[in-house]
Amino acid sequence: MKCPKCNGLMYTECLSDFMLVFDIWKCINCGALIDPTILKNKQELKGKNKTIYSHPVRSVA
Ligand SMILES: [Zn+2]
Repeated sequence: MKCPKCNGLMYTECLSDFMLVFDIWKCINCGALIDPTILKNKQELKGKNKTIYSHPVRSVA
């Protein structure tokens, strides 16, 4: 997988957020983060305004 921003090499990184564990793509060149689930949602939810390059947001309790 190559970075859509800089065409750099990307690798998967496993993140955990309390109960949730998920893998994201991370660019070793520019540090861009791509969440596969966001990409999938973006494809399924056409017209929805979701950003690809967002860090996982932890909601404040
Ligand atoms: Zn990049």
